[in-house]
Amino acid sequence: MNVLVINCGSSSLKYQVIHSDSEEVLAKGICERIGIDGRLVYQPKDGEKEVTEAAMPTHTEAVRMVLEALVNPRTGVLKSLDEINAVGHRLVHGGEKFAASTLLTEEVIQAVEECSDLAPLHNPANLIGVRACQEVLKDVPMVAVFDTAFHQTMPKEAYLYGIPYEYYEKYKVRKYGFHGTSHSYVSKRAAELLNKPYDDLKTIVCHLGNGASICAVKNGKSVDTSMGLTPLEGLVMGTRSGDIDPSAIEFLAKKENLDMAGIMNILNKESGVYGLSGISSDFRDLEAASNEGNERAAAAREVFCYRTAKYVGSYAAAMNGVDAICFTAGVGENDGKVREMICSYLGYLGIRLDSEANQKRGEEVMLSTPDSKVAVMLIPTNEELAICRETVAIVG
Ligand code: ADP
Repeated sequence: MNVLVINCGSSSLKYQVIHSDSEEVLAKGICERIGIDGRLVYQPKDGEKEVTEAAMPTHTEAVRMVLEALVNPRTGVLKSLDEINAVGHRLVHGGEKFAASTLLTEEVIQAVEECSDLAPLHNPANLIGVRACQEVLKDVPMVAVFDTAFHQTMPKEAYLYGIPYEYYEKYKVRKYGFHGTSHSYVSKRAAELLNKPYDDLKTIVCHLGNGASICAVKNGKSVDTSMGLTPLEGLVMGTRSGDIDPSAIEFLAKKENLDMAGIMNILNKESGVYGLSGISSDFRDLEAASNEGNERAAAAREVFCYRTAKYVGSYAAAMNGVDAICFTAGVGENDGKVREMICSYLGYLGIRLDSEANQKRGEEVMLSTPDSKVAVMLIPTNEELAICRETVAIVG
């Protein structure tokens, strides 16, 4: 079957059409600047990438334009829209209600809306994409795949914060975790590549992109992860602070005369390696700058690697051991120096990195030497394929 995978944000909509048997991507692209002016990027599997500027006042027009491109007689990859058998939607926050992907019904949409105050930037935008697809592809079954679902197996000791329990009971304030689709995909792939049963393996997945999180996967289940109630907790990220002393919020608010929105904006958008370096959130820029002797850029990378290594160590402790450590996402897949810096803290685990293998990027590679006590692996993530598989499992 052909699955349309949709990842919808407030002003953009990423899409892929995947043939589920061959797992081949027939076409992919993005609608950008929805509600502003509008731009469609369309890349068919055997053709040239096309960029079309066109008015997209709402997401419904964006979905219509994607569908028109898919069935375009000259460059389309489908003969008609009947060839789209299902749609898989990425949804960010499923709260405690969704521990797995689910068929999108009106009740499900309502339940996702109820979780929206936990992810006010993401869930409403995701649902706009769902509504737009429903409007245009009326009878096609749709599936919700949640970023949080994989982490619903975390035990209480991992997900409860040390604050009055009534806030968990009243408002469900707890750790949820994100990037679940990626952590699940990569940890499963690690078991396959190691030829070991998934439910008998301790894996730590380092999803290091612009947003970054780590997950401890024990016997096929997420038992801890670094992001929390929101994607702000945990690692130092591109522009997000990750863990800080909560009292710093009050201190900075007073010193800088900021309200809560101002502080949250700083922690989400002005912090991380961007805030530390004062240069960029992109690790390529940081490497170039630190090679030219910029000390803040060098320090930003060191802070990022140190924090990541500390989380790896804590998850090895949480699982009482680790069999495999996997690197994925933009930084994890491409930046060998960062992987090396992180692994340099992990010698006590018996890790030995193969420096030649560690030069590789963007492909599945064993990064550790045969005598390393823990397998270190580079596994490119593929969240769209994982959403396609989930969709087929539910609709198929
Ligand atoms: P997200 O999905 O969270 O936006 P990605 O996983 O796409 O992020 O990662 C994007 C980041 O990956 C970039 O900001 C950059 O820091 C990093 N990156 C991409 N390519 C390279 C590269 N060749 N070398 C080092 N870092 C890279």
